Amino acid sequence: MANTNLDESVQLADILFPDIPVGRAAEILAASKPRALPEGACVTRFAPSPTGFLHIGGVYAALISERIAHQTKGVFILRIEDTDKQREVEGAIKIIAQGLGRFGISPDEGVLPDLSEAGAYGPYLQSERLDLYRVFLKELVARGGAYPCFCSTEELDIARETQELQKVKTGYYGRWAKHRNISAAEVAERLARGETYVVRVKSRGADGEKLQFTDLVKGSLSLSVNDQDSILLKSDGYPTYHWAHCVDDALMQTTHVIRGDEWLSSAPLHVELFELMGWTIPQYAHIAPIVKIDETGTKRKLSKRKDPEANVEFYFKEGYPISAVTEYLLNLANSNFEDWRRENQNAPSEKFVVRLDKGSVSGALFDFVKLADVSKEIVARMTANEVYSAVLAWARENDSEFVLWLEKNSDYAQKIFNIEREGEKRRKDIAKWSDARNSIEYFITAPTEFVLSEKVSAADARAILEKVSEVINVEDTADVWLTKFRALAVELGFAPDTKTFKTNPTAFKGTLGDVAGVLRVALTGRTNTPDLHQMMQVFGMDEVHARIDRAIAKLG
Ligand code: GLU
Repeated sequence: MANTNLDESVQLADILFPDIPVGRAAEILAASKPRALPEGACVTRFAPSPTGFLHIGGVYAALISERIAHQTKGVFILRIEDTDKQREVEGAIKIIAQGLGRFGISPDEGVLPDLSEAGAYGPYLQSERLDLYRVFLKELVARGGAYPCFCSTEELDIARETQELQKVKTGYYGRWAKHRNISAAEVAERLARGETYVVRVKSRGADGEKLQFTDLVKGSLSLSVNDQDSILLKSDGYPTYHWAHCVDDALMQTTHVIRGDEWLSSAPLHVELFELMGWTIPQYAHIAPIVKIDETGTKRKLSKRKDPEANVEFYFKEGYPISAVTEYLLNLANSNFEDWRRENQNAPSEKFVVRLDKGSVSGALFDFVKLADVSKEIVARMTANEVYSAVLAWARENDSEFVLWLEKNSDYAQKIFNIEREGEKRRKDIAKWSDARNSIEYFITAPTEFVLSEKVSAADARAILEKVSEVINVEDTADVWLTKFRALAVELGFAPDTKTFKTNPTAFKGTLGDVAGVLRVALTGRTNTPDLHQMMQVFGMDEVHARIDRAIAKLG
């Protein structure tokens, strides 16, 4: 007997879910308070699966969702989609919640960084909501919108092979959906025999029909409607993502579903589910993934397996300032961020208004050089003390030897970090905290080599260093220091500046820069360092003399 009327559907629902009282769904809905939010407030959520890995693309989606919620005075939820028990990894929820916490992405509801739960619309772990999925599925079955399917894998395989042979669309739909009109009596019999089943939606869609769909990132789209009787409840009693997220987003009153665009093709099914339940359909924003150009020149998604930078741990380990990664992600999210930052140099990045319609449609290209630039700008705006504290915090997790030095030489280290940090021209040599040690290494250990540039002879180098030792005083102001330094260069036959040198190159042994180069290499062993005068002030007169003497000795 075919299931042709509503009474039959109600019977079917009772047979499938005998433990759920009639009217339970309505009761739950009635008990769920409408959110009291200002006009235009968005309720968004980040809904990761706990797979033991926080993908930078996840942080990107979470950041956009959090910003959209908070800039509209709405609510941001962290919901854990843990219905696939095979993929779940121990400790994964902590990795997600604390990872987001380090990025300053704080949920108002759901799982918090200390793993407690907040909010009146929970629980926020899907595995703790299994009864809710059943309650509302009973309701959907009773409305004639879903039914049990007892097909075995073999039967489904045979159907697919037949479809392929006949060159028709594959899947479980229309006339191929064998059990879509199964009678309540047959279901009762099969259940009595202990047969396993899944529950499928009874799709109303037909092949070829279109759905006008407005996506807040991708714009107005014409998508094929859903015509597949997709699985909503698996044979193990767990819901599929399709069903679980509909129930959750309806009950949590999500207004904006912001998620990866791999879900765009399932959106028509989701719209159908909301419609079948008579629920308000949320607005959708399908964001393009973060992509990279790989070694072969192909553009592809950042891959969890191939790209270390896909995992947020990478940024923590390398010591990128979190605010830099956040700014970089905002840059990827909205290309006008850069202009905004230029005009609002000191404003916190939360002041930037994220717009979904300004997002990349095809994929935001990840670029390390750009990330480093953003980061160097941010570090350049920090005080020496802030840099010191951040480097120390990073070193505590990654470089215990450096920690000892930093703790023992706290004042000295801050003086070093303060070089070129107060004036107009700020140093931009640190992009990540793991760069710090190398960038100040020569303050920790004096150079052991003295390699002269070919531009200056050993005799001139000796004369320069001896003269510096004689006349330079690190206590001098920058102006006095420069005047003295220029005078000694001229006295030794070098041009006082590049312009003078260029007017008559043969008249000079070289430029002021060459003289500075000798001193720089003698003091640091490097050709590229911050301002000499400021460095010498930090070294102090004794250290300057000691290093110059050692360099002279190396000249033989
Ligand atoms: N659990 C889904 C995922 O990790 C969530 C997608 C969504 O935001 O709805 O992709």
